[in-house]
Amino acid sequence: MFFRWFDDGEKSSQTSPMPTLGVRGIVVNSQLTINYHSSRVPNDVQIRRLAEVVALARACLELALRTLRRANTPPYDPEPIIRRILESHFRFSPITRGSTKDWSGDLGPIISNFESIWTGLRARITISDAYSVYLSRGLRLRGYTMTKPNHLTGVARPESYGSIHLDFDLLKNEREKLLMVAMLIHEAAHKFRSMWDTRYRNEPGYSTLHPISTRMNPDSYAFTVISIYKRQCITQLWGYPSARKI
Ligand SMILES: [Zn+2]
Repeated sequence: MFFRWFDDGEKSSQTSPMPTLGVRGIVVNSQLTINYHSSRVPNDVQIRRLAEVVALARACLELALRTLRRANTPPYDPEPIIRRILESHFRFSPITRGSTKDWSGDLGPIISNFESIWTGLRARITISDAYSVYLSRGLRLRGYTMTKPNHLTGVARPESYGSIHLDFDLLKNEREKLLMVAMLIHEAAHKFRSMWDTRYRNEPGYSTLHPISTRMNPDSYAFTVISIYKRQCITQLWGYPSARKI
């Protein structure tokens, strides 16, 4: 049994605090520090891959920001694939050709949310092994970010979140890299922009979400970024955990 992201503040306050990961503050490079448990020490390949995942997530976010800013300036003529991605993940009303100036009222706030995520992710960050929730509750989660008591949903205050947790086991497989990039951007949307999950990408209601509901929905951001990077409208990712199939 596994779950996805555990990121509901209410739940965390009711249960016992997470045991801390014993090995903390291990410096990987000037931009990345990791925490893990002594019973599950990541090897050099895993640590190198995590650094690559973080670097790739930053590069993908930068590309997405450049692309969306360009789409939001005259002549408002993004490529068909970019139009398709925005229609799919932010539920923009379809405009197949001609100016997309009508989108700018919605695209502006989305770009500023991406800027918050980018600002947070490009600074020095700490990533912890999601193994910690297995230690405390026997749950196998692939990624999560815990809220702190002073957290306010929607109010961007990174310090009101704990560190981003990703399952270091996934780092054993090169094939999981894009999946981990999507998960990191998803968790960064929680931590640095205080977003909340309305629908996960592989939940039935995702493709019929009201456009407003996508504005603070982490998967809408994560899948837009990897779609722009891959230049295809990605709607499914192999191994992407499906939340509520318990
Ligand atoms: Zn989430």
